[in-house]
Amino acid sequence: MLTDITTDNVTLLRGVGLKATVPRLRVLEVLQSKSCGIDVHQIYLELLESDRGANLSTVYAVLKQLTACGLVDVHWSANRKALYVLRSTGNHAAIATCVSCGQSMELPGDELEEYVRMLVARQGGQFRAFSVDVQVVCAACLQHAGALGKSA
Ligand SMILES: [Zn+2]
Repeated sequence: MLTDITTDNVTLLRGVGLKATVPRLRVLEVLQSKSCGIDVHQIYLELLESDRGANLSTVYAVLKQLTACGLVDVHWSANRKALYVLRSTGNHAAIATCVSCGQSMELPGDELEEYVRMLVARQGGQFRAFSVDVQVVCAACLQHAGALGKSA
């Protein structure tokens, strides 16, 4: 389901130097409603079904712009079909840092972000960005500690 224009997407487009035009916002909304890649015809059909009007060559042009500015990634399906997916930025990731060796790893933060968005909306606020720091003991350090424990 498509939502109304959000200022989030206007900010997103302006952030990469693009004007927030209606076709760009519509395509972004379709991509945001998908958790996996979607091809250009599916995007076009979604826009038609949502009764907002669409033009296939405009959809192509918008995807080209969004890909060029790094908002959207292209994945190739097994049958060489281009699938478009919103690139998750650093804002969406949770960084886990090992308290023992200091190594950090990136955790996919999409579900967390969705939850935070929901909480923010419930409070009547507007979501802007998201980052989480997680402290862990990494697998290597755990193993090391385990080995020490056995020998002691
Ligand atoms: Zn560690």
